[in-house]
Amino acid sequence: MADRVYEKIKDIVGEKNISDNFFELINNTLDAFPYDLDLNKEKLPYVVVKPKDEKEVSEILKFANNENIPVYPRGSGTSLTGSARAPEKGIILDTGRMNFIEIDTDYGYFECGPGATVDSVDIALGKQGFFLPVYPGSRIVATMGGMMAGNTSGHIIDASIGKPADYVLGLTVVLPTGKILETGSKALRKPAGTDLTKFFVGNDGLTGIVTRIRMRLVPAKQRAFGIVYFKDPESIGKGVVRMYREKAPAPLFMEFMDKATTTIGFEHAGLPVPPGCSIFFASLGSTEREASDNSQKLLDVMRKENPIRAEEIKDLDEWMKIWTAREAIIASLMQKHDGQFSGPEIVTTLPNLVGCIKELENYGEKDPIFKNLPLYLLGHIGALTFHPTLIVPKDWDDEKKRRLVQAEFEIECEMNLRFGTCGGEWSQFGKRTKFFKKRYGNNAYDLIRQIKKVFDPNNILNRGILEGL
Ligand SMILES: Cc1cc2nc3c(=O)[nH]c(=O)nc-3n(C[C@H](O)[C@H](O)[C@H](O)COP(=O)(O)OP(=O)(O)OC[C@H]3O[C@@H](n4cnc5c(N)ncnc54)[C@H](O)[C@@H]3O)c2cc1C
Repeated sequence: MADRVYEKIKDIVGEKNISDNFFELINNTLDAFPYDLDLNKEKLPYVVVKPKDEKEVSEILKFANNENIPVYPRGSGTSLTGSARAPEKGIILDTGRMNFIEIDTDYGYFECGPGATVDSVDIALGKQGFFLPVYPGSRIVATMGGMMAGNTSGHIIDASIGKPADYVLGLTVVLPTGKILETGSKALRKPAGTDLTKFFVGNDGLTGIVTRIRMRLVPAKQRAFGIVYFKDPESIGKGVVRMYREKAPAPLFMEFMDKATTTIGFEHAGLPVPPGCSIFFASLGSTEREASDNSQKLLDVMRKENPIRAEEIKDLDEWMKIWTAREAIIASLMQKHDGQFSGPEIVTTLPNLVGCIKELENYGEKDPIFKNLPLYLLGHIGALTFHPTLIVPKDWDDEKKRRLVQAEFEIECEMNLRFGTCGGEWSQFGKRTKFFKKRYGNNAYDLIRQIKKVFDPNNILNRGILEGL
């Protein structure tokens, strides 16, 4: 079978763009989990293939569908829900060659390939005075296709900017049967009524492979920055609740790090030792003055919770250092302890925010396997999202690392259900299928399965992900 798959797909993409090399297969099946592949259990794919456009994707899918071979679309494989692991033997479809970026200021949109990295799109837009309303921590490597499949906005606060789906005007998608579909509009107005785009943004790669993304151009705004230090994380939580209750303008970013995390981050960025835990933000405005006023309003709200210090950051270099401390924090923590990171995504509702922080301060006691591991608390607090982060010793065996990751998803599921929320990042299926079923019920899950069947009658796309890993 492997030879037949190789020969057939080689004819579609050419020899340079297909590989069955052992290391390539392994590299393209790993994701961001701390454990390696278990070659006894996980079946390596037949091939990794790099099509150049939707026509080649279509030919590959027609072949796979006729032969009932699973196909796993892959961006950069940074998924944190297991969805880039390819649980069944099949074809890995690497989108890396479809990385074009075309900005059309006459129409007011840009189009890009799914393999363009989030960062490359943001940089290209920035050069023309626009910005991408998407900002995952992994953006230097994460792709637009991966972002689209999760409908994830990353650090950006949904309440101020919204989700990528709000900006997508249309898509080109190849269905699992090989049919090519165009959705949406080239106008700045989205279609009224049924818009098929919705079936593909946030689809976990289950209903089709996105090969072209069209998004509205968003003019860059002025930004003003602020930082507040508190004695304890609970006061930060109270400040954020106030921000929403007192209608202070929600910023673009609002990040939180507990004292230990802030200290390590600042140390690595060459900043002075912080006096406490930190919350720092970027406020928006049409003018510098407006951005600064918005940032002052936010600082005034935070001051009501008696911080150690609350100040606007006027010096861009200082802000960049603080932001770098946050951006590089996972690497800094791993370096400090010479380990790997692991951690769930806990999202809470506003009334539960402070209680959630208190509970997460004791996250390390939630499972015996976490005992004695370094624990750090950080997150996109403006989006009510936390990542309690554990540093896992490299020399733990893979079985133990697997148990740890599984325990974290169980806790994530339990806490997010209790807080009545959704899972605002990463995606919904893979390791989160149990959460989806419990949160939305079996009727919702059955409906998703039926929808998948309409698009993908032979269940070739991302087989095993909807079922749960
Ligand atoms: C250090 C680190 C920081 C992170 N920070 C964030 C964060 O701040 N916010 C956040 O949400 N996530 C974050 N993530 C998770 C992850 O990076 C994002 O979910 C990212 O969007 C995944 O993109 P990718 O290109 O790596 O996709 P992959 O991992 O390759 O794929 C993810 C899913 O998308 C599907 N897919 C990929 N391309 C297509 C396509 N063209 N058509 C259909 N389906 C497709 C895949 O089949 C898979 O199911 C982080 C991960 C790491 C390791």
